[in-house]
Amino acid sequence: MGEVDATKFPLHECPYCGGTTLKIKQRIFGVGEYYVDLESGDIDATELHSGLQHKNTGKYAMCADCGKKLFKVDDSLNVLQN
Ligand SMILES: [Zn+2]
Repeated sequence: MGEVDATKFPLHECPYCGGTTLKIKQRIFGVGEYYVDLESGDIDATELHSGLQHKNTGKYAMCADCGKKLFKVDDSLNVLQN
């Protein structure tokens, strides 16, 4: 999923527990396909998620460790002030 510019985040660790990972809830919907080789039985699931659409539902970046709300973001992880 790449990376974002962490310098734009208003904080770099959780003020409640000191955790350094945030989480964003996403709603994922769609249909996936995977492939099975008819001769060997090998399963190729590399494309399984490529057709899914992701929609951020939680607009809060939350601490991955303690679950506290840290700050608001939009779908592109831009920090929202209000
Ligand atoms: Zn925390």
